[in-house]
Amino acid sequence: GLKGKVALITGSTSGIGLATAHVLAEQGCHIVLHGLMDQDDGLSLASEFAAQYQINTFFSNADLRDANCIHEFINNAVNALGSIDILVNNAGIQHTQDVTNFPIEKWNDIIAINLSSAFHTIQKVVPLMAKKKWGRIINIASVHGLVASANKVAYCAAKHGIIGLTKVVAIECAEQGITVNAICPGWVDTPLISKQIDTIATDKSLSYEDAKYQLVTSKQPLPEMLIPREIGEFVLFLCGNAARGITGSALPMDGAWTAQ
Ligand code: NAD
Repeated sequence: GLKGKVALITGSTSGIGLATAHVLAEQGCHIVLHGLMDQDDGLSLASEFAAQYQINTFFSNADLRDANCIHEFINNAVNALGSIDILVNNAGIQHTQDVTNFPIEKWNDIIAINLSSAFHTIQKVVPLMAKKKWGRIINIASVHGLVASANKVAYCAAKHGIIGLTKVVAIECAEQGITVNAICPGWVDTPLISKQIDTIATDKSLSYEDAKYQLVTSKQPLPEMLIPREIGEFVLFLCGNAARGITGSALPMDGAWTAQ
C-alpha cells in the first residue's frame, strides 16, 4: 500500500489539490500541503491533517512563479518529511480574455504556475525517486491540454505544454520505476471556475445554478460537474502498483467532452 509514502501536492489548500490530499492521507501517506494561504492558516491545516490521519505533514506557501522559491520549498519539504515519493503538480490559475487583449502579466503568470512550476518540481524530485526505484508523478492538466476553447490562450498553451512535459519525463524515467501521467479533467466544481459562472450569470441574467448548468453543458455531454474528490481517486489509482504500465499518458476524465 501507500502507507508511509510522502506525497507532495501543489495547490492543496483548495479544490482538487485539497481533495487529493485527503484521499492520499486516508491511505496513510505523509502529506506536503501547499498553496497561497497565510502561514498560520496553513500550519493549522497541516496540524488538522496530522491529527485526523495520524501522519506527518508539512506546509508551504511558496509562490510557484519563482523558481528559487520552488527549489527552497522542495528542500524544506524533504528535510521535514525525508523524501518525496508521490508528486502531484496541481496548482493552477485561469484568466479568460481574447488573445489581442490578453494581459502580458496574466500570460506570464499562467505559463509560470500552470506549466513551468511542474518542470521545477520534477527536476528536483526525480533524483529522489530514482534512488528508491519507485515514484509517481501526476500532473493535473485539463481537457484544455487536448482541445482548445476561445479566450483561454495562456491556459490552453500551458496545459498542452504540460502534456508534452509529461511524455518526455515518462520516457526518461521508465526504467526507474517512476510513472508520469497527466489527468485531463472536464468541469470540476471548484473556486477556479466561479468567475466564469459569475460572468454568464451577469451577462444572461441567470441564477448562479442556471449559469453553472449552461457553462457545463456548453462543452461537456455529462451535464454536471465532477467533484474534486473524483480526481483524487483517479490520482490514487495511478499511484497503485496495478497502474505501473500507465505512463506517459494524458488521461481524460471529462464526461465525453473530448469524445466529440
Ligand atoms: P483552485 O483555485 O480551487 O485551487 C488552486 C490552487 O493553486 C490553490 O491551492 C492556490 O493557492 C494554488 N495557487 C494558485 N496560484 C499559486 C501560486 N502563484 N503559487 C502557489 N500556489 C498557487 O483550483 P482547482 O480547480 O482545484 O484547480 C486545480 C488544478 O486543476 C489546476 O491546475 C486547474 O487548471 C486544473 N483543472 C481544473 C478544472 C476545473 O474545472 N476546476 C478542470 C480541469 C483542470
